[in-house]
Amino acid sequence: MGQAVQTISILMSSPTMNQPDFKLVDDNQSMKLMAKQVSNESIVALDLEANGMHRYPERVCLIQLAIPNNIYIIDPLSNIDMSPICDIVENSNIEKIMHAVSYDVRCLKREWGIKINNLFDPAIAASFLGIKKTGLASVIEEILGIKIDKSKKLQRSDWTVRPLSSKSLIYAANDVAHLINLGLELKERLKVIGRYDWVQEEFQRQVTATFKSMNPGIDLFAVKGGGRVDMSKIPVLRSLSKLRIKYAVLHDKPLYKIFTDKTLVELSNADPSVALNCKGLGIFAFAPLNNELLNAIHRGLQSPPFYVPSKSRPPLMQPDQKKRLELLKFWRINMGAELNIDPSLVWPAPSLERIAMDTTLIKNEINSSEVRRWQVKAFLKNLSVFIQDNGLNR
Ligand SMILES: [Zn+2]
Repeated sequence: MGQAVQTISILMSSPTMNQPDFKLVDDNQSMKLMAKQVSNESIVALDLEANGMHRYPERVCLIQLAIPNNIYIIDPLSNIDMSPICDIVENSNIEKIMHAVSYDVRCLKREWGIKINNLFDPAIAASFLGIKKTGLASVIEEILGIKIDKSKKLQRSDWTVRPLSSKSLIYAANDVAHLINLGLELKERLKVIGRYDWVQEEFQRQVTATFKSMNPGIDLFAVKGGGRVDMSKIPVLRSLSKLRIKYAVLHDKPLYKIFTDKTLVELSNADPSVALNCKGLGIFAFAPLNNELLNAIHRGLQSPPFYVPSKSRPPLMQPDQKKRLELLKFWRINMGAELNIDPSLVWPAPSLERIAMDTTLIKNEINSSEVRRWQVKAFLKNLSVFIQDNGLNR
């Protein structure tokens, strides 16, 4: 064992918890050794821990990687060259098992500009096998019969802190310890019932998902309740968002700890003369920062108006269209029950609404970005027959 790669195993007091061995990767030499080992593998398990609940801007603090005989815990905060792990993530010859991946997709893109190629997500896989509780611990217990510790306290701990406690490291290692076996088993089960193609399309959608904004503080739609801000006050919202980001960075605290979205919305709508009476102003309740807050509001009020493109809203439904939609939803529920999957997986709701408005448009739905290829293949004929048989096309 080289000095750079240290193996830590710790005796655990709880008999239900596993004690995975892992190697800490926190210098370039150990990273190289890990990459060399992993390059021979066709399948790896991956997970990451970030600090968004405690810091701003959010950073990825740990990347856990498992191969059949080893677990590596990579420390991106240790100032090492991350390109070997980035290459693994992007390498389409290595399958990545990652649980409930959408958040990780965003983090990896933001931090290193990389896209996951060749993904298998056990959470999605489980939902297509009719498993309702798709959290990591639930799926591992249901499929492999193994109990893992998913302590909420550890999950929400500040992963920026160094050195990490042995408890935290074991928790992190446990997140990937069973993923390869889990993925292989789920894949087998999906193949048996002919749904592996289905999930593959879902995985592809996950990794190519685009996100509206990488700057949620300024993105109107990313502010909870942002829709309640008066149109004329949108520039105030933006100005206050910028102020919030400035102080979040300064104090390395998440946006909500500077002030919450609720306060942001309230402040944006408030008349400047009473703005300081708003609740939850935190550090801005007192001099001298209260003046900075008022200045930000005035800057917003003096800025040119901001036009939000009006979302193309479908026209209101007529009674007969509403009735059609009810029947189409009934079809979807039955289909879901028959296949033992959630009805929402059968067909996207916005598409059903469009079909309810005008059933002749069903052929257009084949090209809709919401409708999946596998859905067309598996259900379009059945849906068309249902429409015919129930006279919905009249
Ligand atoms: Zn994790």
